[in-house]
Amino acid sequence: MEINDYQKKAMTTLNPSLSKKEVLVNGVMGLNGESGEVIDLVKKHLFQGHDLDKERLVKELGDVAWYLVECAYALDVELEEVFSKNLEKLKKRYPNGFEEEKSMKRKD
Ligand SMILES: [Mg+2]
Repeated sequence: MEINDYQKKAMTTLNPSLSKKEVLVNGVMGLNGESGEVIDLVKKHLFQGHDLDKERLVKELGDVAWYLVECAYALDVELEEVFSKNLEKLKKRYPNGFEEEKSMKRKD
């Protein structure tokens, strides 16, 4: 599946009555809420003796993806652009791959 295809398909399940501003707010809130669900699964695994529920983790990461797409949609940006710009930033930051020293001396 292509990245932008996912965005188009995912956004067919967006509430059509929301304004763009509401879509952005819903997206940011959802992104943080779903990230919290991911954190909770890992927390329970690390500190409460639970097995790591990989299947559920994958589903929650999918929920994170949906809200990421919603945020991009609210900004009229394709997901591919979000990913490309992130890769450009990382390439500048770590041109030879991750380096601890470059991480510590980051300016951005
Ligand atoms: Mg969820």
